[in-house]
Amino acid sequence: MSEPPADGTRPRFGLLLDVDGPVASPVTRSISAPGLLASLLELAAAGLPIVFNTGRSDAFLRLEVVEPLLAAGLPAGARVHAVCEKGAVWFSVSPGGMGEVSVDEALAVPAAYGRAVERLVDERYSATMFYDRTKRAMVSVEQRLDVTSQQYLAQRHGFDADALDLLGAAGLGGRLLAEERPDAAGRVDYRVDPTIISTDVESVLLGKDRGAERALELLAADGAMPVAWRTVGDSRTDYAMADWLHAQGLDVAHVDVRPADGVPATPYPVLAARRSTNDAAGAAWLARLAAVVRGEAADDAGFDDHLPDAAPGSLAAADGGSTR
Ligand SMILES: [Mg+2]
Repeated sequence: MSEPPADGTRPRFGLLLDVDGPVASPVTRSISAPGLLASLLELAAAGLPIVFNTGRSDAFLRLEVVEPLLAAGLPAGARVHAVCEKGAVWFSVSPGGMGEVSVDEALAVPAAYGRAVERLVDERYSATMFYDRTKRAMVSVEQRLDVTSQQYLAQRHGFDADALDLLGAAGLGGRLLAEERPDAAGRVDYRVDPTIISTDVESVLLGKDRGAERALELLAADGAMPVAWRTVGDSRTDYAMADWLHAQGLDVAHVDVRPADGVPATPYPVLAARRSTNDAAGAAWLARLAAVVRGEAADDAGFDDHLPDAAPGSLAAADGGSTR
């Protein structure tokens, strides 16, 4: 990591943002919370580095995050990057557009396995699932938008077992929840990871912690490191970003926009949403941080205390969405 400059020009905060949940609505899958985009642009203009850290593909990020940022007028000098597919794929964004996409091929699932899963979906699971052709390193199979969660979940367990079998058939070691099937050398290099709306098959080396590490590499190359960090997410796995930063001895607090599962004990502060959730909470936190940077607020704790309580119905609807 580069040494901070002595002239006090280090950004006050660096942001690592999960996308589905805190930034993109789990219902519309796009940036739709009022004020959210404007706050992101204000923070970028103030010199805060922003890195999106997601399991999504670069194609999804381009469509749902990069294009809206560029259309709204990303300021000159903004430091914006995206780490996709849990650390395996990354690119940078400037006011001129989206930079070249890089892929760590060593972390990619073998292409022949991806083709085998695509055939499996075509032959047996296409009524409830689709194969995500935009992924470069992971294999992702998602719930179709025109079926219910119940219909999807009824087939997903069978799919997960088949996906694990196909790893074995390809000579690859795999893990599905508690079940481990090592390869001939005794290695388990891949995991089958079911979420609420998808199953991902990925290298065991990928995750939000790997994404955080990649983010810091990108920021070390393009300017001064921030004084403190904020990581933001809607899932328990998003805490891995803050875990990793804290393990490096860095000053970090994690913002949990959907603490429905409870807030775990951590060695760093957690700022949990109290009166809002998902992207509404993400927007409230970004607005508060912008006020802190402007000198109009002391800190970003209690960032949504001023909001009316979210209606129980809207919370339930939002909680049924993506957790990636
Ligand atoms: Mg998420």
